[in-house]
Amino acid sequence: MSSSMLEKYLLDEIGNMALREARARFERELRSRFALETISCMAPGSLAEWPIEEQAPLFRLLPGVEAAIGVQLTESFLMLPRKSVSGIYFPSEGTFFSCQLCPRERCEGRKARFDPDKARTFGLSPDREVS
Ligand code: SF4
Repeated sequence: MSSSMLEKYLLDEIGNMALREARARFERELRSRFALETISCMAPGSLAEWPIEEQAPLFRLLPGVEAAIGVQLTESFLMLPRKSVSGIYFPSEGTFFSCQLCPRERCEGRKARFDPDKARTFGLSPDREVS
């Protein structure tokens, strides 16, 4: 690996670590502020059933979000700056991650093990292709 490739990799990993920490703090704040014991979240693009194109209606729910926090949705439904995340948090009895319904085998972002029984409960085929 060349030094510039290594540098890019390390910078990307630092960005991922910062994102994980920011997310964990945000979740602690949500639980504390609204007295929620358990919360779960889902994000557009994490499941074939909620594709990345759903970023557009999600952003429309938050008019002025770009001016407020500087996150911009591109025409290809990606967000700038790059380490931005979007989605919906909701109170739940148990912890739910869309990763539990996602059969993708290799994903560095996986937050929970794939659960084929849970996927069937949600009417999803555990053998479906994931884009
Ligand atoms: S396993 Fe990866 S691709 Fe699948 S939902 Fe989780 S983060 Fe997204």
